[in-house]
Amino acid sequence: MPKHIFVTGGVVSSLGKGIASASIAKILEAKGLKVAMQKLDPYLNVDPGTMSPCQHGEVYVTDDGAETDLDLGHYERYTHSTYGRENNLTSGQVYFKVITKERRGDYLGGTVQVVPHITDTIKEGIRGVSKNKRYDVVITEIGGTVGDIESLPFLEAIRQFRHEVGSENSLFVHLTLVPYIRAAGELKTKPTQHSVGTLREIGIQPDILICRTEKKIDQPMKAKIALFCNVEPEAVIEARDVTSIYECPLMFKAEGIDKVICRKLRIEYKSGSLHAWKKEVVDIALRPRFSVKVAVVGKHTEIQDAYKSVYESLKHGGIANDSQVIIKRVNSDKPGTARSLSQLKDVSGILVPGAFDERGIEGKLLAIRYAREKKVPFFGICLGMQCAVIEFARNVLGMKGANSTEFNKKSPFPVISLSGEQEKAKDPGGTMRLGAYPCDVRKDTKAYRAYKAEQISERHRHRYEFNNEYRERFQKGGMKFSGISPNGKLVEMVELESHPWFVACQFHPEFKSKPDLAHPLFRDFIASALEFQKSNFPKSALKPVPAPTEVEEKTAAHE
Ligand code: GLN
Repeated sequence: MPKHIFVTGGVVSSLGKGIASASIAKILEAKGLKVAMQKLDPYLNVDPGTMSPCQHGEVYVTDDGAETDLDLGHYERYTHSTYGRENNLTSGQVYFKVITKERRGDYLGGTVQVVPHITDTIKEGIRGVSKNKRYDVVITEIGGTVGDIESLPFLEAIRQFRHEVGSENSLFVHLTLVPYIRAAGELKTKPTQHSVGTLREIGIQPDILICRTEKKIDQPMKAKIALFCNVEPEAVIEARDVTSIYECPLMFKAEGIDKVICRKLRIEYKSGSLHAWKKEVVDIALRPRFSVKVAVVGKHTEIQDAYKSVYESLKHGGIANDSQVIIKRVNSDKPGTARSLSQLKDVSGILVPGAFDERGIEGKLLAIRYAREKKVPFFGICLGMQCAVIEFARNVLGMKGANSTEFNKKSPFPVISLSGEQEKAKDPGGTMRLGAYPCDVRKDTKAYRAYKAEQISERHRHRYEFNNEYRERFQKGGMKFSGISPNGKLVEMVELESHPWFVACQFHPEFKSKPDLAHPLFRDFIASALEFQKSNFPKSALKPVPAPTEVEEKTAAHE
């Protein structure tokens, strides 16, 4: 049986529970332990697939086609595992299961209740992750903040779980905030004490506290937190704000979290080395030689997490090129954007990410035209590829009114349309072309130069596709189909021959990039952006910037 670590969060949301959980996994993996991760989400949606990225951040897609919480992205980026459907459980799924059973009469007339029926189903889900697989440790992150009504059944389930498996087989880690009050010039421990108090009311005594803080938590303060929260002083782990999120595993290890975990879970202690991670990821992220600015043109640019994996992958592309990447977020949906391209004047690369519905399309098309004509490196992802096709049809092939049937069913040139399969799907939830599919890469293309492989596998999340009726006209006009599904039916990648780097794909490469292994397309996109910068903005290439990886710029629409 694997050992279980449960991670909860208190005081406020957005403390970085996902990153903390992934960092613990990274540290344990470095010791040679086999680690699985799981996220329990308290909302009633069955999965985040139908949720707006404005409310809950990006929808992260796994190989098996599950539409999951973005924290699974952190898990995959920090560790070597790939995850899937069973690694993300929502209250919606749990209730759906219980109610389906109830309707079928499985409960034989018994009263169906939160305890035990909902909590048992949650425990089944926790056990399900390691069913038929051999893991040493399973890390389960509980979404939400302690004290929320919504997450109570999950907390009750993990309390019972610990009761069943014992304290040497399970561990509670609680992430809290130790705020610095400027006027008093002091760090305050009271919110942490209250949060732990709330957990204890539910019957959970945390074993380890990870304390988010702006300032150093000194030994006396750690002792105070330990005393009032009833944990060992070594189990109070400082989590100071960092420049790059990839520093977290190093910081936690320096605080000795792994020693406490191994001791409490009776795992034989081996130091394990994060040396490669430090050298190949963190050192470069903190002290890159180059700096390059690229624009992400989308409609949700004001939301921090809406394109989370895209932003992270750009940073990975930077790390692979020894460069900082300054991401300029350009909102394509604000009035004025369509009229003004001045926002793109200082960037060396333009990326258009995926999206649904028509908002902001015209702004994206203008940005793509600008990239194509001015030979600025361009990377289109999913809807970004579809827009690149529409732009090419309208402005190069002279197909006036060319469009996707997603936006205009009566377009005279429906260059993007639905294939037979997708046409039949009625419900919006879980009915798209989802998950990993193979793709043949044509030799002698930029795509092949990036992948160096004739067949690849990438993750998808879309309904619409390139309309094959137009293949010949596009090819004659200079657009190459560099990636095609093995049965020859679906266009997966396009590129322009007459451009230094204009590549777009129907799939989502951002779900497979890692800080220590940048996705080849992101790596080459940044490499070509650096080339563009060298010839167009020679002075800015080596500019050292104080906060290396997290620098971002947002642009106002009226610029
Ligand atoms: N809306 C487009 C489609 O459904 C693109 C989807 C996406 O970018 N993820 O095909």
